[in-house]
Amino acid sequence: MLLALTDHLHCTGDHAASWLVARADAAVRGWMVEGELGCPMCDVTRGIRGGVLSWDPAVAAQPVAPLLMTGPDDDSVIRLAALLALVEGSAPYVLCGDMGRYAVALGAVAAAPLVLLDSPDDSAAGLATIIRGAPRMPFADRSVRGIALDATHASAERVAYAVRVLAPGGRMVAGSDLALPSGIRELARDDRHWVGERVVDHSSVSAPVAIGRAPAAPRRGWNG
Ligand SMILES: [Zn+2]
Repeated sequence: MLLALTDHLHCTGDHAASWLVARADAAVRGWMVEGELGCPMCDVTRGIRGGVLSWDPAVAAQPVAPLLMTGPDDDSVIRLAALLALVEGSAPYVLCGDMGRYAVALGAVAAAPLVLLDSPDDSAAGLATIIRGAPRMPFADRSVRGIALDATHASAERVAYAVRVLAPGGRMVAGSDLALPSGIRELARDDRHWVGERVVDHSSVSAPVAIGRAPAAPRRGWNG
């Protein structure tokens, strides 16, 4: 698990939003290999073993298809990188389930933090952060730059949380059979996928100003 990613992770407990505190027992060049994340509000801890963060050990301690993953072809990789608008930076991109097959190849396209939720195997541990068993997106609101959903992470609740954690302008990619969720503006679609972006939420921008004055527009950058 990438240690710097701790800044973007949140507890999924039913309480006010809370960051997590990391305790690294073994770390190599900024990657936590063994350790623990704890929530200061509900005291739940999540273990990290072999670099893999297990959100709920009872649910998904093991990959579902170890060592059977085949890499996607080059065209598919470039296509997904383009759909996600993958660029170097500190804000993470999240690949759900089977989309984790793209991690190694996407890592070669741009130096961006990749998070794999319930990936089919653990072969990308060390270059991507693997999280298993989280009931919903374990990230701070507006902290994620792109999300590729697969069919197993496309329930209404999971998709709603995915929208919530996306930064304004962040990209969401999903199968074309999934309905476009509220808060996402469609950019393009074909028979396989659609891609959309998180609509900028102006609700937090303060009172309107009088016409005739031209104050600088608030800059809404990536969170991190
Ligand atoms: Zn908590």
